[in-house]
Amino acid sequence: MLKTVAKSANRKTGPIAVTYRAGVHETYATCPSTCALHPKGEKGGDLIDGDYLDALREAVPAGGIAWTYSHFDASLLPQWAEGETVINASCDTVGEALRAVKLGRPAVYVAPADTATSWPAKHGGIRFIRCPAELADNFTCDNCGGDRPLCARAERDYVVVFVAHGASKAKIGKGGGCYAAGGPTAIQWHGTRTKGAANDAQALRAFAASLPQGSKLRHHVAGDLGLAT
Ligand code: SF4
Repeated sequence: MLKTVAKSANRKTGPIAVTYRAGVHETYATCPSTCALHPKGEKGGDLIDGDYLDALREAVPAGGIAWTYSHFDASLLPQWAEGETVINASCDTVGEALRAVKLGRPAVYVAPADTATSWPAKHGGIRFIRCPAELADNFTCDNCGGDRPLCARAERDYVVVFVAHGASKAKIGKGGGCYAAGGPTAIQWHGTRTKGAANDAQALRAFAASLPQGSKLRHHVAGDLGLAT
């Protein structure tokens, strides 16, 4: 199920286009079962949805930019090609992030809350820098990086760090801690199960094509590439 929002009210993204993705029976159904951030009782799946992935790669607004994140293993994520959506490997450890970079995937690292003062840092010769929206009020993905947000730079030579925050922060690194497990994001996400479009791939292609020239599109704010059962 896919929910599309042409102008997000999310404080972090700013007023860009976004989507949410969920299964009919489980909100986390499109997330990999291996994700360490799942709340207890949510399982996720093991397979990537090929139809959705194909649509996702192509779903870039005309003259615009699209990016997203995936908790599936970095080796399963496609290598980015010019003109495609940038898919960041979402990593739970510094080691995983370094491996993703080595595999040629742009990487982000969700770091424990007590590391807030540890960034920027260099690990394995790679720079780790914190998401600027976490460091300044009124900073959003919409105004990040000038005309190209950092997470939409597929060939960057640094890892973007998100430091755990909010109600779930104590769970990061210990199991649980998904940022979408509570608050307005969770409301939108749970609603996707009943109000989203049933054919994700078709809905996504149509949505990207409907956006104004030069739009920024952040795919699946919550949810992932998985095949929902
Ligand atoms: S680094 Fe920039 S694009 Fe990435 S999440 Fe932070 S503000 Fe958004």
